Amino acid sequence: MSETMEFRPMVLPPNLLLSEFNGFIRETIRLVGCENVEVISSKDQIHDGSYMDPRHTHDPHHIMEQDYFLASAIVAPRNVADVQAIVRLANKVSFPLWPISIGRNSGYGGAAPRVSGSIVLNMGKNMNRVLEVNVEGAYCLVEPGVTFHDLHDYLVSNNLRDKLWLDVPDLGGGSVLGNATERGVGYTPYGDHWMMHSGMEVVLPNGELLRTGMGALPDPRRPETMGLKPEDQPWNKTAQLFPYGFGPYIDGLFSQSNMGIVTKLGMWLMPNPGGYQSYLITLPRDDDLKQAVDIIRPLRLGMALQNVPTIRHILLDAAVLGDKRSYSYKTEPLSDEELDEIAKQLGLGRWNFYGALYGPEPIRKVLWETVKEAFSAIPGVKFYFPEDTPENSILRVRDKTMQGIPTYDELKWIDWVPNGAHLFFSPIAKVSGEDAMLQYGVTRKRCEEVGLDFIGTFTVGMREMHHIVCIVFNRKDLIQKKKVQWLIRTLIDDCAANGWGEYRTHLAVMDQIMGTYNWNNDSFLKFNEILKNAVDPNGIIAPGKSGVWPSQYRHMACELVKF
Ligand code: ADP
Repeated sequence: MSETMEFRPMVLPPNLLLSEFNGFIRETIRLVGCENVEVISSKDQIHDGSYMDPRHTHDPHHIMEQDYFLASAIVAPRNVADVQAIVRLANKVSFPLWPISIGRNSGYGGAAPRVSGSIVLNMGKNMNRVLEVNVEGAYCLVEPGVTFHDLHDYLVSNNLRDKLWLDVPDLGGGSVLGNATERGVGYTPYGDHWMMHSGMEVVLPNGELLRTGMGALPDPRRPETMGLKPEDQPWNKTAQLFPYGFGPYIDGLFSQSNMGIVTKLGMWLMPNPGGYQSYLITLPRDDDLKQAVDIIRPLRLGMALQNVPTIRHILLDAAVLGDKRSYSYKTEPLSDEELDEIAKQLGLGRWNFYGALYGPEPIRKVLWETVKEAFSAIPGVKFYFPEDTPENSILRVRDKTMQGIPTYDELKWIDWVPNGAHLFFSPIAKVSGEDAMLQYGVTRKRCEEVGLDFIGTFTVGMREMHHIVCIVFNRKDLIQKKKVQWLIRTLIDDCAANGWGEYRTHLAVMDQIMGTYNWNNDSFLKFNEILKNAVDPNGIIAPGKSGVWPSQYRHMACELVKF
């Protein structure tokens, strides 16, 4: 690829001429070098890849046609100055940019842009340094391309793991920064990633660079700041210690949003607790979910449950251990009797509760007694430590996850069906047995209506549960994909009718979900649109992200949401 070539992308963004595209790409190549620019001009460039080999052209777990959400080009800035220059260039022709960090974003759209033809801005390729790990303050400062795995490796190779732990989600390949800005979760006591961030550096849509919280206050005591570019200057010494700073707290504007491009993020790390014990509690009957959730609520609120524990449906665990064929020749959803049979075969319950104890032995002992006594009210529950379970048990995987060691084992549940792909449906539920049963009932019924098994998990936050329904489908089965589209649209409506909303979503249904957050004549969306149009008048950053459209796109929004 050279800057004199004529480029013909497979798709252009709305209202952009081919000549404008070419002008933009040529200038971008001049800026970042041709090795950092890829124009998507042929179907041959579109492969689904795999989790370990993620592509940035489109969503590998496509629920519509493979190229429905497609980039025109992928550009990887080398540094903050490049990001600023690209943003300024984009403003000239209103070119939409879709920033990603690593671009896995599995089950929520991958690296694909909401508006086809956008430039996917691959922030992680070159900007991938762990800038600081501070032991005394127990925090780190990272660039977009640092994955959970990278950060863990950094702690291990610098002999810091005995001092600090990080929090990891189910899979270790995502970016620390992208996951936190998307408000993703992990499973240690630091599982709410957004809660644990402190200080953001952001390129605004006009190209200006901003630091939030205490980061807005320069650190005067460091003479070495003299002559350094703003992005290279040390942060205020309290920026990673106190997230709020002074005045309006604007960090939220850069979370699940399209107000800026995040270039650095501070995250709190957990001091090594000095002792750890993971455990599994199996719940034999399907409706034990109700009693278990009511037991969990006071324990979690009172912090006897210290981490983000999970209540996993039997099929989530079963799917990590084998595909559907290894349990049954049925293609239709498995019946309750068959689920009981699988649970028995695997030595698990219909629901399985994975938690952990943190701290020195006496503390763990007291907490374990409390947890055990409370759960013992459910007839037939069984308690396990990892060493009581088979070598390949899910508890042995969760044992790592709940102490912040990244793994990839849970990738396997995607292969439950042939050509497995997945889509997450993620409503929030009260930590109440009744709510959990109702939400499970509504979601399972709809999954089964389209011929899919219900696979899901409740991750227990401080006062709510993220219910993650894992919709696993055959990406080569076009009829099944149509059914999956119907399923997610119907689930959103069903849940809204019960007063449940989703915490995060796939690109395809961002508009629908934003439409459900419509209290008092859409005042939430309207305010977001006012901000968006003020901050990004040319509508260049991630138009349509979370259902927030800049005014240029308003007349097209209906067309874009149709699928
Ligand atoms: P993952 O970390 O799972 O690989 P991504 O890098 O794809 O996830 O990020 C998920 C989403 O978060 C993106 O689609 C984008 O909306 C948002 N995002 C990621 N990185 C940035 C960033 N540096 N600036 C702004 N938004 C970002």
